[in-house]
Amino acid sequence: TSLPLAGRTAVVTGASSGIGEATAEELAGLGARVVVLARRAERLAALADRIERAGGTALAIAADVTDRVAVRAAADRVAAELGGADLLFNNAGVMLPAPVEEVAVDQWQRQIDLNVSGLMNVIGAFTPQLVAAAAERGVADLVNTSSIAAQNIFPTFAVYSATKAYVTHLSRHLRAELGAKHVRVSTIEPGIVGTELQDHVTDRGALDWLAGSRETVEWLVPGDIARTVGFLAALPPRVNLQQVTVMPTGQA
Ligand code: NDP
Repeated sequence: TSLPLAGRTAVVTGASSGIGEATAEELAGLGARVVVLARRAERLAALADRIERAGGTALAIAADVTDRVAVRAAADRVAAELGGADLLFNNAGVMLPAPVEEVAVDQWQRQIDLNVSGLMNVIGAFTPQLVAAAAERGVADLVNTSSIAAQNIFPTFAVYSATKAYVTHLSRHLRAELGAKHVRVSTIEPGIVGTELQDHVTDRGALDWLAGSRETVEWLVPGDIARTVGFLAALPPRVNLQQVTVMPTGQA
């Protein structure tokens, strides 16, 4: 009995913590070879080691996805060493809420650089591999991490939410474009998940809101999102979960 993702090669960005880390382990457990990508090399090495000790196959590539040249080099390495990717979990992201009148341009730019431009760098570098794999084997997956913030209104989260609306809308268009080539495009829109995402928040109001939420709502854990990604990747090639909202039961 072979595992559902046996023979597949997954690239996971933002794999050094949180949702990406859990998803890399999940996909490896389902039989995929996984390439784990983020900036913190030690974290990636420890994760790759854990995956290998559990019987999986992992390749760690330290790269900043806002650096298009570095992402291109990572894709070349995946092609040379593993024959290309057929599953891309495009997940690296950052959330920096602040009232708009504070004009926190550095934080605006960091979110746009990573959540939009970084996401595009990864799509640009790996989509040819996905298309080639789908032509050869009948299916490939491009899974983008958006957020419930793409749909719902969260004051002070405007820039973050707008970057995620970009991710959701882009994915719908890419799905229409790539579906005919047997590449499934999916968007995951999680509600709140306890990860390092919250650790980067500096705005007092947002920190208070998060603290209040943590007290009243049982937040998701990264493995909850990882299972969703594993589930959709293992579906028959004709089935494309286009957009999946995963909420904590208690989050409004
Ligand atoms: P984490 O902060 O735990 O993970 C973010 C990951 O992105 C880390 O692995 C980080 O690694 C990586 N990363 C950050 N900057 C870069 C960069 N320039 N180049 C490459 N990798 C980078 O947060 P989450 O796991 O929560 O976030 C994952 C995704 O989920 C994000 O897109 C986030 O917006 C989304 N999301 C999260 C929700 C939540 O409540 N947690 C809810 C909805 C969506 P490193 O620093 O080593 O580079």
